[in-house]
Amino acid sequence: MTGIFSNLAFRLARWQNRLGLAQNRCVHCLRPFSPLLPAGEAQASQGHARAIANTSTKISTAAFTDNQLCPSCAALLAPYTGPRCPRCGLPPTNPHEGNVLCGACLQSPPPWSAVAFHGLYQNALRHILLRFKFDGHLYLAPLLGGFMLDAVACLPWPDAIAAVPQHPDHLRHRGYNQAHELAKALHKQLGVPLSTQLLTRPVPGKEQARLGAKARHSNVQHSFCASPAAKGLHVWLVDDVMTTGSTMTAATKALLAGGVTRVDAVFIARTPRNTPN
Ligand SMILES: [Zn+2]
Ligand SMILES: [Zn+2]
Repeated sequence: MTGIFSNLAFRLARWQNRLGLAQNRCVHCLRPFSPLLPAGEAQASQGHARAIANTSTKISTAAFTDNQLCPSCAALLAPYTGPRCPRCGLPPTNPHEGNVLCGACLQSPPPWSAVAFHGLYQNALRHILLRFKFDGHLYLAPLLGGFMLDAVACLPWPDAIAAVPQHPDHLRHRGYNQAHELAKALHKQLGVPLSTQLLTRPVPGKEQARLGAKARHSNVQHSFCASPAAKGLHVWLVDDVMTTGSTMTAATKALLAGGVTRVDAVFIARTPRNTPN
């Protein structure tokens, strides 16, 4: 009997959508809009995304963005598809250079094996990440996790997902770790085990956003510690934004020193040159 009612509710939702009667509120601009998919179909698509992700084929994020963003904001928050450094994701100064290694990676290649991110840390994506990180808008986590789904389609399947951890004092102060919320969203959408114990941050440091490039490096060096359980694993290491790469470098080095066989760096946004935090 329950099945009949849920089937009827699903059909009704589908017709509401077709007639433009269903209304969602865009999580970015907060205006109401008619979603392209009723909730049931969106959930079915999420299951499909999870199934095809296991075959390392292209993953569709439509189920996550269509129901949460109005068409205008979906366009503003579309993934970055331009040229980038293949090791750290930094767009070249001259776009005609294509996917060439940046100067920093030529001088000192980063310790992770591959990098995956959704977009550049500017405009709408920067605003939405600032709300998520500093204003406690955690309802954005599924949307941002959906953004990462498309990005990670280029990566080999991992054994575990880990977030760049915060020192317990910082965690107490903010109340949540934005990187962990993103890793949790990715874990829910893909089913890859999420580990909160693989990597810890026993050494406190200053807020990276307030420091210059050199200070960022020394601020996080030796901050992280890997668990013995990390040995032999392939890990996706998740953070919200990569700016200089100092935090991701220090965290990756700690995991590799702990016996992890491979680390891939996964984050939402890459800071292009000269963008404030
Ligand atoms: Zn909108
Ligand atoms: Zn680079």
